[in-house]
Amino acid sequence: MRIYNTMSRTVEPFKSIEEGKVGMYCCGPTVYNYAHIGNLRTYIFEDILRKVLEKDGYAVKHVMNITDVGHLTGDGDDGEDKMSKSAKEQGKSVWDIASFYTDAFMSDISKLNIEKAVVICKATDHINEMIEVIKELERRGHTYTADGNVYFSIDTIDDYGKLARLNLDELKEGARIEVDSAKRNPKDFVLWFTNSKFKDQAMTWPSPWGVGYPGWHVECTAMSMKYLGKHFDIHCGGIDAIPVHHTNEIAQSEAATGEKNWVNYWCHGEFLINDKGKMSKSSGEFLTLSTLIKHGYDPLDYRYLCLGAHYRSQLKFSYEALDHARSARLSLIEKVKALKASANASSTLSEAALKYKGEYDEALDNDLHTPQALATMWSMLKDSSISDTEKLSLVLYMDRVFSLSLDNVEAEERVGSAEDIALLEERSVAKKNKDYQRADEIRKILAERGYTVKDTPSGSILVKTV
Ligand code: AMP
Ligand code: ZN
Repeated sequence: MRIYNTMSRTVEPFKSIEEGKVGMYCCGPTVYNYAHIGNLRTYIFEDILRKVLEKDGYAVKHVMNITDVGHLTGDGDDGEDKMSKSAKEQGKSVWDIASFYTDAFMSDISKLNIEKAVVICKATDHINEMIEVIKELERRGHTYTADGNVYFSIDTIDDYGKLARLNLDELKEGARIEVDSAKRNPKDFVLWFTNSKFKDQAMTWPSPWGVGYPGWHVECTAMSMKYLGKHFDIHCGGIDAIPVHHTNEIAQSEAATGEKNWVNYWCHGEFLINDKGKMSKSSGEFLTLSTLIKHGYDPLDYRYLCLGAHYRSQLKFSYEALDHARSARLSLIEKVKALKASANASSTLSEAALKYKGEYDEALDNDLHTPQALATMWSMLKDSSISDTEKLSLVLYMDRVFSLSLDNVEAEERVGSAEDIALLEERSVAKKNKDYQRADEIRKILAERGYTVKDTPSGSILVKTV
């Protein structure tokens, strides 16, 4: 399998640190509001990555954090604390806000058939681990305290910004407009706040530097290392995490261990956009999964829409595009229903069927090319040289990654006596011979007997008229 690594800007062959096992950390939601469908696109991409690795035989230890403290509205230590702001607006405690939106998030990902991470860890449960990381950074000389806060000093490392390929000279220029005068370098970032702009901070903990709360970036360093070790395979997120959040995670993690190459593969999903650009919570213009459901869509229509675009391309959301995804998904279900009615017990795959399986595997193993994998699935379903039994077995195999719940599709119920079936077959022959009059007569006879004739991709069948 090959995957694009943001660090090298190339598609690289994937090789895990430990044979057959993968450690994968995904930055999780900040639980101060509902996830929007742009956020959910990123979690769908991560789910596909995990399932492709599993398809290829890896046991994936997927870890995701829940940011329930310390994330300011700006990524660079500016703005308000997102949790406190939301709690104030809704007249609830920050703990209630966190618990409510965590549940809402879990419910959304389950509706999208996103497999739950093996470890889901809350920032507030790992304050001690964060303090330990900061202590280690302090011991190694990477921190300073100014104006009551503990900062990470980026000038103490020689490769700050390598993921985003930041130009440090340009950063120096930026110093002139820096607002936080306590920072020695404008790109230094807070590890621990004691002297916060928000005196009434609801969530605070004692620490060697005083009562306060952690910066956002340090949480991912502390939790990923706790569950995956000091060196692991994959770290994921949306592309907006590259210039600040992931850049700072790398800086402090590698400074804390004194080793380079903390993570081997950095994988980022592109944005979902709308007419106004990136869908974002702060712009106020965002759609949730519940809104789509209210409009009559199935969450899996949205999953299908996401599968139709490569994860490294922007995807423009429109209801028209979602309608197309819905009709494609519904016709897929119709096909699977018919296949379930006509397929026999599974048998070995013919060479032609194996070719489709190979094309599908290759598409996904080539940097998760889901649009290509979907196209292969449709070509296979339309190919008359492949038996219904093979089609069913292949489509269910493919759905292990697509995750469109095809397993749960009920077989179209076969009804009718031998005589009715004989009539049905006679109608098919009549239709083939363009004898539409006879075909119509038979349809009427069958209707009088209480059956509706349904033409499906794998032939005509009878269903009870309701
Ligand atoms: P947040 O809950 O804001 O921390 O975001 C959760 C995840 O969604 C992060 O990995 C972000 O990078 C990602 N994300 C934010 N906006 C978008 C968007 N419009 N499209 C895709 N992913 C996004
Ligand atoms: Zn993170």
